[in-house]
Amino acid sequence: QAKNSGRNTASFFDPSLQSAVDERAKMVSEMRSALEAKEFELYYQTQHDIKGEVVGAEALVRWMHKDKGLIPPADFISLAEESGLMVELGDQVVQMGLSQLKTWQSQPGLNHLKLSINLCVEQFYHDGFVENLEKSISEQQIDATRLMLEFTETTLIYDLEVARRNILLLNKLGVRFAIDDFGTGYSSLNYLSELPLDQLKIDQSFVRQLNDSQKDAAIVRAIIDMAHTLGLEVMAEGVETVAQRDYLNSQGCTLYQGFLFSRPAPVQLLELHRRGVM
Ligand code: C2E
Ligand code: MG
Ligand code: MG
Ligand code: MG
Repeated sequence: QAKNSGRNTASFFDPSLQSAVDERAKMVSEMRSALEAKEFELYYQTQHDIKGEVVGAEALVRWMHKDKGLIPPADFISLAEESGLMVELGDQVVQMGLSQLKTWQSQPGLNHLKLSINLCVEQFYHDGFVENLEKSISEQQIDATRLMLEFTETTLIYDLEVARRNILLLNKLGVRFAIDDFGTGYSSLNYLSELPLDQLKIDQSFVRQLNDSQKDAAIVRAIIDMAHTLGLEVMAEGVETVAQRDYLNSQGCTLYQGFLFSRPAPVQLLELHRRGVM
């Protein structure tokens, strides 16, 4: 009997599981201090038109950890969501993004740039999200027509009624909306024609195999055609090769983002790029 219970205890207590739990708790508490210490920064990835001109950028958050260095969003966004820190993190991202837009707005040569900011469920559906954003836009006198908010289909359909209300309110101010990672989420397309959306971003997974997979090429063509029929812009994400860009171009896609053009980088690089120095 003693032997039995010993075995049960052993299988119940899994030290590797315990250390994963500890590691997670440690990271959440570090994230909390990092938010206070303002250790999160925005990197910017340029967005290009057919001619290759920079028309805007997407803000992509990075954690500048004091010991571990740069931590990519894949390593902390879901933890931030699960631990309730995403609202604060998202708020800091929006504030940093707006202040960047404000800076560009006052600089000749940069004042045409648009900025895309990613939103997640916690943030978009948080009470006061719209009101706070409205307030920041008006206080800082931001030209809201140059702000694009991105979210996935999954975020959009999480609560379609609230989403509709938020989108309509912000749309009145001129804020624009993009569906990120399009083609990977929910498949009902009703909302596309009902809501005042502006842009579909073709998910990188379709762009990656474009020149090798007939199926991915067909999906990309279908997305582009549908977007045009609905009067939406199409942005291709994850464009890494000239062949991918040329195919997208031949199918009528007019906006591009990807390593072929630039990697996400601190804002200074984007501004040099824009000024033709790079
Ligand atoms: P996303 O919004 O779909 O952003 C595009 C991701 O693809 C970025 O990764 C970017 O660096 C990467 N990428 C861009 N071009 C290429 C390419 O040519 N090839 C490849 N292989 N990758 C490319 P990143 O910066 O690691 O961000 C990952 C995801 O984290 C984002 O995907 C977004 O969902 C999320 N994220 C990033 N910043 C924020 C934020 O401020 N708020 C929220 N809620 N989510 C964010
Ligand atoms: Mg995005
Ligand atoms: Mg994406
Ligand atoms: Mg994504």
